[in-house]
Amino acid sequence: MSGVNEIRSTFLDYFRKEGHEVVASSPLVPRNDPTLMFTNAGMVQFKNVFTGLEKRSYSRATTAQKSVRAGGKHNDLDNVGYTARHLTFFEMLGNFSFGDYFKERAIVLAWNLITREFGLKKDKLLVTVYHTDDEAAGFWKKIAGFSDDRIIRIPTSDNFWAMGDTGPCGPCSEIFIDRGEHIWGGPPGSPEEDGDRFLEFWNLVFMQYEQVTKDERVDLPRPSIDTGMGLERMASILQGVESVFETDLFRHLIDAASSALGRAPDVETVASYRVIADHLRSSSFLVADGVLPSNEGRGYVLRRIMRRAMRHAQLLGANEPLMWKLVPALVREMGQAYPELPRGEQLITETLKLEETRFRKTLVRGLGLLSEATETLHAGDMLDGETAFKLYDTYGFPLDLTQDALRQRNISVDLAGFTNAMEQQKAEARKHWAGSGEAATETVWFSVREKAGATEFLGYETEQAEGLI
Ligand code: ATP
Ligand code: MG
Ligand code: MG
Ligand code: MG
Repeated sequence: MSGVNEIRSTFLDYFRKEGHEVVASSPLVPRNDPTLMFTNAGMVQFKNVFTGLEKRSYSRATTAQKSVRAGGKHNDLDNVGYTARHLTFFEMLGNFSFGDYFKERAIVLAWNLITREFGLKKDKLLVTVYHTDDEAAGFWKKIAGFSDDRIIRIPTSDNFWAMGDTGPCGPCSEIFIDRGEHIWGGPPGSPEEDGDRFLEFWNLVFMQYEQVTKDERVDLPRPSIDTGMGLERMASILQGVESVFETDLFRHLIDAASSALGRAPDVETVASYRVIADHLRSSSFLVADGVLPSNEGRGYVLRRIMRRAMRHAQLLGANEPLMWKLVPALVREMGQAYPELPRGEQLITETLKLEETRFRKTLVRGLGLLSEATETLHAGDMLDGETAFKLYDTYGFPLDLTQDALRQRNISVDLAGFTNAMEQQKAEARKHWAGSGEAATETVWFSVREKAGATEFLGYETEQAEGLI
């Protein structure tokens, strides 16, 4: 059986032998890139190499990149624990060509790796291409010998990859595996595509353009390649398990949580264990890269992740802080590949413990208020905005925590009412303004704007620049 650590090195070794420079993962906080909250893909550190602004001594590279998708254009926070394949923190394995090889070679390299090194069976595999990309479809036919029904043409942005609202982008081709009829789901492009039967595990992006502004797209100096394979997804395939949470690494993290709690996961509680294991990774890696919980920007996303995990720990009956106790297990699993973890272990442990100790008091009271307020509500109902705002403002419940707490009962939150309550409070605050230094009203803008799909940071900074908050 291939463990996560082994799969990572197989990938990197393969591309090294194919003439790629093995480059270290960049930090989760992108350097000098205010358009992006967190590094969300392998190409982020190479953005300026693709656009020609920056030169490197190599034209082919390969990486295992730490990625977080918990905000902005690629946000999987609400998926975690509920799908078999989404994590907020994951490792993206990638190979890159900066004006070196293009489509055909990229497909050959990918095909040889998955069928020869990883031993995947051709008859379980299928690919998508952007609907107008006859060239990619032709290469797949030639190289993999796929019949037309295994090369699915997709007309949506799913097959046109972009890092964010601006930056390098291009049509892409994704590789899927059919995990069998016993799992619900349909092929990409079908109404059941969100199921877990057909698992996307690798995306080959044919980088051809740069989105300069919302309305302007130009050609890159030279066509390039950017690929991303989810390490945890590949591990789930090679280990023959149905979800990323059943791979070796996650099993060990979940075991650590279960022994700390003195309770084993069951069907009722398994989602909470999964959320805890995932959020432990994203929180720890973010702290290791210098993010601390706060009431704004990146720090607030971290706080949201941590508090969400804490609610799930509470659900599992934890009556004292839990997350910090799991840090040694994480360091054991990933410390060798990521030395920043053992280096930051103490800070990570203390940050988790402090945040959890502080939040526990209001968490318990807030959950009490929430269950009172929803006592008479039924599936399809809405929690009033004032209560959601009170939970936010007085009890420190990020909006998404409240939404997550109500999700199982299929109760939503009145977002307009929430914004209204906040507006009112802001007006009050302005009346009595004396520079209290309370950041709460600012952060709420951030999370609401984000929910509404505004460009993460820019939305926030523009508000601030305009003096709206
Ligand atoms: P999905 O459609 O499943 O949400 P995606 O199309 O958003 O995935 P890409 O942006 O193409 O993902 O990223 C490249 C690869 O990274 C994916 O093929 C997948 O293997 C992996 N990946 C993406 N998002 C996640 C995630 N949230 N957790 C784990 N792996 C992921
Ligand atoms: Mg996605
Ligand atoms: Mg996809
Ligand atoms: Mg994809």
